[in-house]
Amino acid sequence: MKKLLLYGALPAIALAAFLLILAKLDVGPVNSLIPNREVKLTILATADLHGSIPDDLAHYIQETRSREDNFMLVDAGDFFDDQNDAATAMQQWFKICRNADNAGQPRRMPPIVRHMSELDYDAVVLGNHEFLSNDKLGLNELILDFTDCYIPVLSANLYETSAVNPYSGEYYRNYVTPYIMKDFSTPQGVLKVGILGLTLPEVGEGGENVEDLPAYKGILKLEDMVKEADKWAECMKMNGADIVVAVVHSGEEPLKPKHPGNRVKELARSVNGIDAIVASHTHLNIPSHQYKNPAGQSVIVTQPGKWGEYCSRIDFVLAKEKGKWLVKNKSSLTKEI
Ligand SMILES: [Zn+2]
Repeated sequence: MKKLLLYGALPAIALAAFLLILAKLDVGPVNSLIPNREVKLTILATADLHGSIPDDLAHYIQETRSREDNFMLVDAGDFFDDQNDAATAMQQWFKICRNADNAGQPRRMPPIVRHMSELDYDAVVLGNHEFLSNDKLGLNELILDFTDCYIPVLSANLYETSAVNPYSGEYYRNYVTPYIMKDFSTPQGVLKVGILGLTLPEVGEGGENVEDLPAYKGILKLEDMVKEADKWAECMKMNGADIVVAVVHSGEEPLKPKHPGNRVKELARSVNGIDAIVASHTHLNIPSHQYKNPAGQSVIVTQPGKWGEYCSRIDFVLAKEKGKWLVKNKSSLTKEI
């Protein structure tokens, strides 16, 4: 009986050993059979929703997700706005949650967070209205609402001022997550996609920096976006990112006096390691602009307008050659909703 069991187990042991060898060599059986098969990745991005997601936008997102194998959904900020009367569910929420009679009551999740959770966003980036429509406590609660829905809130250049390196003078404690990395299993192996979040420092309506607003003075600081992008893109590459997409709450170019901090064009041209950028904040519709980074590689910039009138779509075609993912083609467009 013992012998029979051993014989029965032998082919399984041999197969396991064979698979182990293949795994060690980093050449999966499928991979070696289909050497140059291409893999597609689609990223949809919203921005400047200001409190609501139109039904047609939600349908477009769901339909695209159902058609694509490798899909991500992100938002570039300004989804939360206490001044936008058109976002009726959110206005009602603000009215009740900010009513003194309601103080001490358990917090109800804001409708925009619930809707973003239903659509299964992979990450959202803090915009200036997330600061302006909150105080520090409200911002903390908003971040916890997203945390309850397993949606990371990103901003790589946002720091707590309580933690500073006495020698370099640099802040070292990020207030929220700088970036996320999502693994896609493909027939060619795992594809690691990094999403880097950045927020323009001038969050005030008059161009004030976050540290100049009474609600955040001495608590939070938004550092230089371009320098931080350079630092974090390198960090993401070192941590294995095959693709890096920067999702940025900032427009392409400075627009004085109201939006001096729009620097996405500068970011695209001066930082290596970023494949595509989602811009926002200026409410422009940018299907696709192409720039070159210092290493001579192309960087796509797209911006999905305002209030869910457009949705940015970035498509990558990738292939693995000699163990490394290469971008064979990339493009972007904005879908009118
Ligand atoms: Zn904005």
